[in-house]
Amino acid sequence: MHYISTRGQSEPLPFGDAVLGGLARDGGLLLPETLPDIRDRLDDWRSLSYPDLAAEVMGLFAGDLSGTVLRGCIHRAYARFRHPAITPVRHLGELFLLELFHGPTLAFKDLALQMLGHLFAELLGKAGRELNIVAATSGDTGSAAIHGVRGLPGIRIFVLHPRGRVSPIQERQMTTVTDPNVFNLAVDGSFDDCQAMVKALFNDLAFRDRYALGAVNSINIARVLAQVVYYVYATFRVQALTGAKQLCFAVPTGNFGDIFAGYLARRMGLPIAHLILASNENDILPRFFETGQYCPRTVVPTLSPSMDIQVASNFERYLFDLSGQRPSKLRTWMKHFQRDGVLDLRSEVRLTESGFKAGRTARAETLTTIRRYYHETGILLDPHTAVGVQVAERFNTGNTPIVCLATAHPAKFPDVATEALGHTPPEASHPLLNALRGQPTRVETLPADAATFADCIASVCNRAVPPL
Ligand SMILES: *Cc1c(COP(=O)(O)O)cnc(C)c1O
Repeated sequence: MHYISTRGQSEPLPFGDAVLGGLARDGGLLLPETLPDIRDRLDDWRSLSYPDLAAEVMGLFAGDLSGTVLRGCIHRAYARFRHPAITPVRHLGELFLLELFHGPTLAFKDLALQMLGHLFAELLGKAGRELNIVAATSGDTGSAAIHGVRGLPGIRIFVLHPRGRVSPIQERQMTTVTDPNVFNLAVDGSFDDCQAMVKALFNDLAFRDRYALGAVNSINIARVLAQVVYYVYATFRVQALTGAKQLCFAVPTGNFGDIFAGYLARRMGLPIAHLILASNENDILPRFFETGQYCPRTVVPTLSPSMDIQVASNFERYLFDLSGQRPSKLRTWMKHFQRDGVLDLRSEVRLTESGFKAGRTARAETLTTIRRYYHETGILLDPHTAVGVQVAERFNTGNTPIVCLATAHPAKFPDVATEALGHTPPEASHPLLNALRGQPTRVETLPADAATFADCIASVCNRAVPPL
């Protein structure tokens, strides 16, 4: 299986190079050249454990890795999850909840980033190479990435966060990781400053090549493919519970990575009737599905910070399909988008049969939803999950089961629970997070300056000792 660029101006890459490279060299995003049809395999896969199912699904895409190596990566990745089912499904009133938060940082990003870490280590070891991952984070991605690569050979990770501007829990989840290959850097500046510093280093091609910089953001195709697995797994569980032929998934959406995995699963033949895209007040995607215009506005802070985005980095992959998989068309669209700051596809595409339904939510409703479900079911929803559940309810006809993706554990956002309920319930705390209090931390501070950041990486790499 090879990976092609949405912009069509770089060579197709084998899986290993696609994973290590992240972005295509022509600036496009990578996609599998063809999508396998899994309809004939579903019955054979139905009773597999999560890791065994992951090995089957990922095996369709990772042709140049041996099955044994892939299996090893998968089993090591999911051995650290705290639930035997890895992604259990439970009833939530008339809906279903797919819990994706049993990994080391209690967010769904662990599902892909735990696996990506082991894939990196395997691919680098094979090539005798090293990788220096650099990332900027406003919270969730940073800790999941750090936990995905801590202690792995051949990899260092440098994570920038805006000093004093991430939540205390998120900060502890990052800075209590003291493995020698992890560098937490607190920047005197904003998240945008952190992002600009990372971009500056990536744009310095000489530096980027010399220090083998790598990225872990959600444009990495391996992250998307790893997420296809839980759509398949959840489909089997809900079919067993209900006997339903088809189902729907409701997905709290930011960068369009998670829901794009569902879209791939649907195109591969998983019986998904609709994908329900849920956003908070930052509603560029629902507006697109309603109007055909992709039109960024200023980001407003919400109760669900991991979905506070302006431009969704994975959306180009979907636009590629809307263009009829024509790179020249897509390049024109992206050029117009850059020039005008808006992409108007009203006259070019029909979205009525896209398979997506979309909705947005407001702060007050999110709090009400959390309160209502806690009282009615005893289940405490985190604010991101609550956004998905609210939008799911609007589309619930009672005929097709809806599975809501629970993307974070509620204990990551205890203040929202307190605001919604008027008190802090026991479910808003988690032993893993409590245990971080008072643990040793390792973090350095940096000015918001790319040159100082570059010096910091260079000095770490030029010390005689190789990473681990
Ligand atoms: C990252 C994240 C999301 C959004 O996922 P995308 O793949 O960016 O759409 C939703 N909820 C939580 C808790 C997240 O961390």
